[in-house]
Amino acid sequence: MRYLPVLGVRTQQQRRPQWLKVRLPYGENYRKVLNIVNTFKLHTVCQSARCPNMGECWTAGTATFMILGNICTRSCGFCAVATGRPLPPDEKEPYRVAQAVKLMGLKHCVITSVDRDDLPDGGAAIWAATIKAVRKYNPGITIETLIPDFKGNWEALQIVLEARPDVLSHNMETVKRLHRRVRPQAKYERSLEVLHRAKAFGLRTKSGAMLGLGETPEEVYELMRDLREVGCDVLTLGQYLQPTKMHLPVEAYITPEQFEHYKQVALAMGFDQVESAPLVRSSYHAERHVKHPCYQKKTL
Ligand code: SF4
Repeated sequence: MRYLPVLGVRTQQQRRPQWLKVRLPYGENYRKVLNIVNTFKLHTVCQSARCPNMGECWTAGTATFMILGNICTRSCGFCAVATGRPLPPDEKEPYRVAQAVKLMGLKHCVITSVDRDDLPDGGAAIWAATIKAVRKYNPGITIETLIPDFKGNWEALQIVLEARPDVLSHNMETVKRLHRRVRPQAKYERSLEVLHRAKAFGLRTKSGAMLGLGETPEEVYELMRDLREVGCDVLTLGQYLQPTKMHLPVEAYITPEQFEHYKQVALAMGFDQVESAPLVRSSYHAERHVKHPCYQKKTL
């Protein structure tokens, strides 16, 4: 495949393009999701990260739960989740997530968490308890876990792997060169190692990145190659949007055509599922990523 060096639209010349316009959340399903989230005192990354897809996802009756509180110990340059000293973990939270999933009637759920570098296990025990509780109260459900890197504490990671989520997701977030700027407390190689270990354990793996932070097409191809080297099955690519003026600026609005080009390159490299479009987020249409007919044939 020929790699086309198509670039995005420079932000100095244009306001947010038409293709990034979204509808606002509304309607009965939206109110039901909001009511359940509030009743069970839960957090969602949809709200905390100001996701542009709330209108679509919540109106369709789905959301991504964020466990271990809503205060993160890290301060990534792109992320709208508050940084600070989190509260101690709540051991009843796994049960509340499970009950919320049940009331929402989900067949597939996505769970993520803040980074808990303050805890010796990074929150792994709560992670495992949440996966188990959701399964116990929702027989037949499939679960995607979008996990942190546990600061390279592989024993902690193993606790989550042994709970066997159906999809183990860990986002690279950006290309190698921009890591220090975008994720100052994370490491590119360490994130790849998380995905490598999950794949070696036999799990389906998924990762994602935001584009428009100043990366070049060649750097995106490098990221894709590195992910394929650790056997990553599913890739998501979406446009970075600056949540507040305090966060990293958008360097470019990547065109829908360029996202489609990246999708074709990624599929040619061997990912079996790729979501690549301006409004894609890692949990967007996540139910599609659970299994794929060719998944059974794949080996690391
Ligand atoms: S894409 Fe994910 S984070 Fe955004 S609203 Fe949908 S479920 Fe929530």
